[in-house]
Amino acid sequence: MTIRLGLVGLGKIARDQHLPAIAATDGLALAAIASRHAGLPDLPHFHDVDALIASDVSIDAVTLCTPPQGRFQQARAALLAGKHLMLEKPPGMSIAEVEALGRLAKAKGLTIFTTWHSREAAAVEPARAFLARHDIRSVKIEWKEDVRHWHPGQQWIWEPGGLGVFDPGINALSIVTRILPEAMHLTEATLQFPENCASPIAADLTFATESGLPVSAAFDFRQTGPQTWDIIVDTSGGTLKLSLGGSRLSINGVEQMAEEDREYRNLYRRFAELVATGQSELDLSPLVHVADAFLLGRRIVVEPFYD
Ligand code: NAP
Repeated sequence: MTIRLGLVGLGKIARDQHLPAIAATDGLALAAIASRHAGLPDLPHFHDVDALIASDVSIDAVTLCTPPQGRFQQARAALLAGKHLMLEKPPGMSIAEVEALGRLAKAKGLTIFTTWHSREAAAVEPARAFLARHDIRSVKIEWKEDVRHWHPGQQWIWEPGGLGVFDPGINALSIVTRILPEAMHLTEATLQFPENCASPIAADLTFATESGLPVSAAFDFRQTGPQTWDIIVDTSGGTLKLSLGGSRLSINGVEQMAEEDREYRNLYRRFAELVATGQSELDLSPLVHVADAFLLGRRIVVEPFYD
């Protein structure tokens, strides 16, 4: 069976990753685009998901690549119309709204897939296997990038629900919640808000695992020069370093592997499997940690940010 997909929100990530991954996945066919200002040659194009659903174009599933604000209404419309649903990260603006989508998908017998693309980076599973075999002493996350380079003109990131620096930071949290053998919880946080923005530009977080191991995270959107997407774990078997967003793995400085990333191809293959087998995958743990940071974080106002 071929799953006919409608892609909603033809922006940066849709063009960079979703289109090539859909084209490379057996059993999927891109059937339509819904985006207010963009379309693709030779494909039906609609202003938004409601217009797509109301049309006579037949689709089985919807992928949402829009910003988190507004996702809930789009996702709900898709589920109510009987379409399976794949959500870009973060899966929504709040935990409760994604839980509501999960209940609706279940009631309708549809697949919902909250994707965390960074978990599919090539070195994440090897790191998880290593950590399962060694005692962990501490974890240090450093996720620092230049917002002007990676998110030019994306005003939604600075609005309520846009997450600010947690937009990339949640990728680190998605990896850590995958590779650590035990759960963790936030104990302390400091968030830096530009005086003209509703979302933070930097954050320092302290977590403890269930057995009390320290996990620290430093997120910053103001990094120029070399970019840093590293997770360093001190273990009984040496120092594990995941770098380049989970793409590379070294132990005690020795490179362990260098494989091609297949993040989005893995996500679409998994989505096709979930639909075919009538299952869902809905993991909110990275978003829970972000919500806790907004609950617990001490807020500092810093200089205004202009793109
Ligand atoms: P983007 O470039 O701003 O694209 C989002 C698209 O959604 C826009 O082009 C826009 O197309 C549409 N849209 C619908 N409602 C919108 C609204 N109210 N405000 C702005 N755009 C709206 O953003 P993106 O970087 O692709 O990110 C989209 C989602 O993917 C985010 O949740 C982000 O966290 C996630 N993501 C991004 C990256 C990345 O590297 N950029 C990586 C992984 C995941 P129309 O104007 O045509 O409707």
